[in-house]
Amino acid sequence: MEHLDVIVIGMGPGGEVVAGKMLAAGRRVALIERELIGGECGYWACIPTKVLLRGPEARQEAADAPGTTRPDLDWPDLRAHRDRMIRDLDDSAQVEGYREQGARVLRGAARVVGRDPWRVAVGQTEVSADHVVVATGSSAVRPPVDGLEDLGPGLVWTNREATTLTEVPASALVIGGSAVGIELSGFLAGMGTRVSIVQRGPRLLDREDPRLCALVTERFEAAGVEVRTDAQVEKVERRGEGVLATLSDGARVRTDVVVLATGRRPRGDELGLGELGVELDGGALPVDQHCRVAPGLWAVGDVTARSMFTHVAKYQGRVVADNILGTRSRADYTAVPRVVFSFPEIAAVGLTEDQAREQGLDVTTAEVDLTQALARPWTYATDPVGHLGLVADRGQGVLVGAWAFGPLAAEWIHTAALAIRMGLPVAALRDSIPQFPTFNEGYQVALEELQI
Ligand SMILES: Cc1cc2nc3c(=O)[nH]c(=O)nc-3n(C[C@H](O)[C@H](O)[C@H](O)COP(=O)(O)OP(=O)(O)OC[C@H]3O[C@@H](n4cnc5c(N)ncnc54)[C@H](O)[C@@H]3O)c2cc1C
Repeated sequence: MEHLDVIVIGMGPGGEVVAGKMLAAGRRVALIERELIGGECGYWACIPTKVLLRGPEARQEAADAPGTTRPDLDWPDLRAHRDRMIRDLDDSAQVEGYREQGARVLRGAARVVGRDPWRVAVGQTEVSADHVVVATGSSAVRPPVDGLEDLGPGLVWTNREATTLTEVPASALVIGGSAVGIELSGFLAGMGTRVSIVQRGPRLLDREDPRLCALVTERFEAAGVEVRTDAQVEKVERRGEGVLATLSDGARVRTDVVVLATGRRPRGDELGLGELGVELDGGALPVDQHCRVAPGLWAVGDVTARSMFTHVAKYQGRVVADNILGTRSRADYTAVPRVVFSFPEIAAVGLTEDQAREQGLDVTTAEVDLTQALARPWTYATDPVGHLGLVADRGQGVLVGAWAFGPLAAEWIHTAALAIRMGLPVAALRDSIPQFPTFNEGYQVALEELQI
């Protein structure tokens, strides 16, 4: 049996960061992937959704911009670019690239079959290593809806079918009102699909600031998306070519497809680790501050159930690589940006006002309608939108949270992300000089409103 320095199980963004750093440091590495190198993110999540959203977004922007009219959508062209960006679901170039760097690449589902040292099996092949890094990601949760599993696969979409779609459906019922549900609803509605989105709780994006939730709901309704909150899909039945869904409030919705956006389940329990005495928390691998599960066993990304984002998976990958290479590095999850790529973009970072109050902070907040305060929204669009909210701790004189709604908010939220992460004093932020005219100038206006 070959003994290596490191075995990486799962080659999504988290696994890729660890693998790249280990190879660059000259370590002997085995990479194990059961589907495609690049992971969920590269083929069925972040990348295809952002490509698919871009066409309808640009169309909307052209309609809103001075001097342009709404262009036509070209679905075959958009689909072709999506296919290029997901490499036609072919990772042979990635496999070749890792082999050229000296990695042993194993195809198939890994199982951890022994410890001291850690031993991993893929089919008939077994390898051992000083360190095993689990980066196996997460799968879409299928909610317990009566009749759901009896519908054919073409009628029920998870993120996989939604991101690899070949035809745009005439109607869609999206279950779940958090980031994935909003992005998929935004894309489909932008392509002309009649969309209903069903959310169990009272608000879309219910973990974010209520103001942000209200803004996205308003925007969706203006775009013709039917938003059904405080409702659940109880039953689905086949009706002709489509589906008839019955909701908990008695409403019935006819739809061509049911789109599941009901959360993700970490895939830590498919590796046999429980049998080796490793404790799991419902599919998740609990990690310490170094992303360590047990001596020589590490985990990164969605499988850790810590903020399920690619940027977090990559960050944890850097932390693990540092630790394996001898630098004691700790993961600090302060100020992880949370973006929903709808149009306009929705972004948040740090604590919401409610969370800050629950933590006992002496809270002061500010909210600015950027169209009232700035020039940039009006140079950008004839009927612009833009909002920025800040949450600050009067005691420390620092920002602790922010939310943003407007064009390119995913970019300008990073001013707040950096300020919160670094604990920059509000007084110092007020003394910065933002470029005119930008959305980022909104911070100057909002910072002045804070009672600090
Ligand atoms: C629709 C959608 C859109 C998203 N958009 C964004 C976004 O814009 N930005 C963002 O930051 N996040 C986004 N996310 C979240 C993001 O996709 C995940 O956080 C990210 O993919 C996690 O990376 P990972 O490395 O942990 O796992 P994954 O990307 O899930 O990769 C895990 C890999 O492990 C492999 N694997 C699993 N089990 C085994 C096994 N036993 N043996 C071998 N290999 C195995 C899998 O095949 C897979 O390739 C989105 C998610 C969805 C669903």
